[in-house]
Amino acid sequence: MTILEIDFRPPLKVYRLHHCGRAHRTYLTFARCVWKNALWVHPTEHSENLPYALVSNCQKPYLSGDQRTVTLFGTRENADKQLEWIDRTGCGGGCYRAHEVIRLKMTP
Ligand SMILES: [Zn+2]
Ligand SMILES: [Zn+2]
Repeated sequence: MTILEIDFRPPLKVYRLHHCGRAHRTYLTFARCVWKNALWVHPTEHSENLPYALVSNCQKPYLSGDQRTVTLFGTRENADKQLEWIDRTGCGGGCYRAHEVIRLKMTP
């Protein structure tokens, strides 16, 4: 018997594997290509399976250009926990809570 697990959390924005001419084999290389101009893209674990990206879109007033920062997580739980944390404490000077979790999909 299958137990249906009902997820009441709002659905995440999904970024599917794009066609940029490169074959991305890991979520990290995929994410680094999606957010090419980000300040940094950091994996939280030494794993190839990190499909949850926590993106901070806050533009700091003392910097110019794309200042996004991206952190990759293996589970939505961990990404949500970190999102809650930076929503509470801020992601740095000039933070205005423009944070979101995005689900990366390597398979169609
Ligand atoms: Zn790409
Ligand atoms: Zn922020």
